[in-house]
Amino acid sequence: MVATTERDGSTWFECERCGLLFDDRTDAQQHEANCDAEEPSYIQ
Ligand SMILES: [Zn+2]
Repeated sequence: MVATTERDGSTWFECERCGLLFDDRTDAQQHEANCDAEEPSYIQ
């Protein structure tokens, strides 16, 4: 699930797996669907 964060007056979309920031929600969702970062915190 993509998190939203405010930074420099703009809204960014953050990959919850690796913390990468995107300025577009769709980009963030597509990245996260393919993110291969380890430690998915919500699967434990
Ligand atoms: Zn990621």
